[in-house]
Amino acid sequence: MTMAKCVSCSDKGIFFKVDGDGLCKTCSPKVKAEIDKHTEIIYEEMHLHERGLDKAEKLRALDAILASAEVLSKYEDMGLDTCSPPPRLVLPEYRGFREELLSQDS
Ligand SMILES: [Zn+2]
Repeated sequence: MTMAKCVSCSDKGIFFKVDGDGLCKTCSPKVKAEIDKHTEIIYEEMHLHERGLDKAEKLRALDAILASAEVLSKYEDMGLDTCSPPPRLVLPEYRGFREELLSQDS
């Protein structure tokens, strides 16, 4: 018999239960709410980044995307579904956009 172990808090035990994502009853709502929140931030800020009119605006959006993608990559490492494209693709791409932006003169 395998012992269930929560991927988030690492609690485990014979009578301990986790859901299909490997999360316990305590962590599941918290983790899912946090994934939803940061996923929404990323999509919204990607939109703002695309339409950003000046460098400051674009930079602010990029920083917000990267901060939220960092949070989501923690959950991605636990094997959970996060945003699409996943953080492991978002992070290098948007770090690249940020560097490119900072190397521009205007
Ligand atoms: Zn847990």
